[in-house]
Amino acid sequence: EQPFFKEALPILQALETAGYEAYFVGGAVRDFILNRTVHDVDIATSALPDEVKSVFLHTVDVGIEHGTVLVLLDGRGYEVTTFRTEEAYSDFRRPDEVIFVRSLRDDLKRRDFTMNAIAMAADGQLVDPFDGQRDLNDGIIRTVGDASERFSEDALRMMRAARFISQLSFELDLKTLQAMIDHAPLLSHIAVERKLNEMDKLLSGSDKAAGLSLLIQTGLFAFLPGLSGQKAALEQVAVLPLQSLNADQMWLLLADKTAGRHITDFLRDWRMAGKRVKRIEKGVRTLNRVRAEGWHDVLLYEAQLETAVDCAEVVAVLDGKTSISKDLISRWHGLPIKSRDELDVTGSDLLAWTEKPRGIWIKECLELTEKAVINREIKNTKENIKEFLLSCNLL
Ligand code: ATP
Ligand code: MG
Repeated sequence: EQPFFKEALPILQALETAGYEAYFVGGAVRDFILNRTVHDVDIATSALPDEVKSVFLHTVDVGIEHGTVLVLLDGRGYEVTTFRTEEAYSDFRRPDEVIFVRSLRDDLKRRDFTMNAIAMAADGQLVDPFDGQRDLNDGIIRTVGDASERFSEDALRMMRAARFISQLSFELDLKTLQAMIDHAPLLSHIAVERKLNEMDKLLSGSDKAAGLSLLIQTGLFAFLPGLSGQKAALEQVAVLPLQSLNADQMWLLLADKTAGRHITDFLRDWRMAGKRVKRIEKGVRTLNRVRAEGWHDVLLYEAQLETAVDCAEVVAVLDGKTSISKDLISRWHGLPIKSRDELDVTGSDLLAWTEKPRGIWIKECLELTEKAVINREIKNTKENIKEFLLSCNLL
């Protein structure tokens, strides 16, 4: 057994001792059966949230309205969720009402795919009313129950299917696939934050091309921010050897291929965090400069290492060549300075050397000095820099 389950076992046992049922459920059980790394274990129980709280000393109300209580044990938090069904989806997204139930089967029935609807008891016994193990074994993603109904209840499930395709390299059950094609437009009701979360997982998977191809094949792409008119561009991306790219490099590639001059709008439409938008924008700008100028030390310095590597990886994939990121990394380590604060002079030095008042000239001098140092035209010492600036008539 994997350590995660072992560590969480006392939680199941405590609930059982108190007279309730409790199981591991969801992705952890799926990944355990697949022999993949288990990240976090979810626990489902017949105990109501207040009952869960009375069983454990340390709990946090993280989503009590959905029945989830965080149980703290040995410095770790475990989500314990009361068995529930979801009634009346009136707007193709989350349920209007959560109804707590005492039956495990009813809880498993509301889950999206058969492979995600398997429960594991404390003794390792599996409860698998929808033949999830068979589908795991065959590598098939199949909805629990009628696919059209399940996607109409919550359209995000269609994106989840695509990201599992990317993560697991599974095939879609034919009825599930047909229902995705039929119901793709329902995705427009889903909050962008939820779409981004699944898209990030799709773009981190080992079979990104398959995930993207499915978005194209089903028409789901047309209901994703900034991608509706981008079928041809997506098709070009989906045939590239994408395995080596991480999610941010994939976003860089997508932005480059689809967004033209509207990179910021594209990323903001996906409601990405500001920092991330800035990082990807910088990547696209650097990518364009690499194409125009080729790599040189000043560009490498201005890009900084992380962006340079991202660009090198993306360029390698686009050109079908091996990545030069290793060369860039050693070149980076050989740069005379890595950032402006490594310069041997500061603005105050410049002010001390002249009678001139503060002004934009300081910034200009520092930039010129930086470039000269990077290009090894001068050494990074006060005397050399002063001499250089004097020779340029800047002091
Ligand atoms: P991951 O390994 O990425 O966490 P996961 O399957 O655990 O994958 P979660 O989003 O953590 O995905 O959800 C946990 C479980 O809750 C799922 O395995 C599934 O049983 C159920 N679930 C999650 N989202 C939905 C949904 N939109 N509709 C139905 N069931 C869902
Ligand atoms: Mg999970």
